[in-house]
Amino acid sequence: MKGTFTLKISDLLQNIGSDRVVFDEQGMKGVLELYALDGKSVLVKVKDFEKNLESVCDRCAKTFMREIRVPEYVAKYTLDKKEFEESEEDVLFLIDEKNQTIDVEELLYQVTISEDPFVLKCPECQEATAYLEDDEDEEE
Ligand SMILES: [Zn+2]
Repeated sequence: MKGTFTLKISDLLQNIGSDRVVFDEQGMKGVLELYALDGKSVLVKVKDFEKNLESVCDRCAKTFMREIRVPEYVAKYTLDKKEFEESEEDVLFLIDEKNQTIDVEELLYQVTISEDPFVLKCPECQEATAYLEDDEDEEE
């Protein structure tokens, strides 16, 4: 599971171009669509993201495999450190200026947690509590 998933984007920035990358890395699958907005920022769309994640049930503490599916997630990478520092959004990332790369792993981590429910339940607990009107469920 260790390793980094980075993409070189120097050509993309230079040509204000676009690119499409299909990935299947470290148990994560999906498509990345990259669009250079100008010479210093890139819009990245994650599509059809799939990941199976080992999770611990909040109710019975059992470990179970959770399927995460995110149809679409949009983020932006920028070279502008000031913009990055001043932004409070979690969909803005910094381009590695020296290597002209973006860290996709960081983005996919955000995509993964974007779908996190307030309370994690294994399938059995999900079923067992489906008829209950939990406080957690009402907040959705
Ligand atoms: Zn459980």
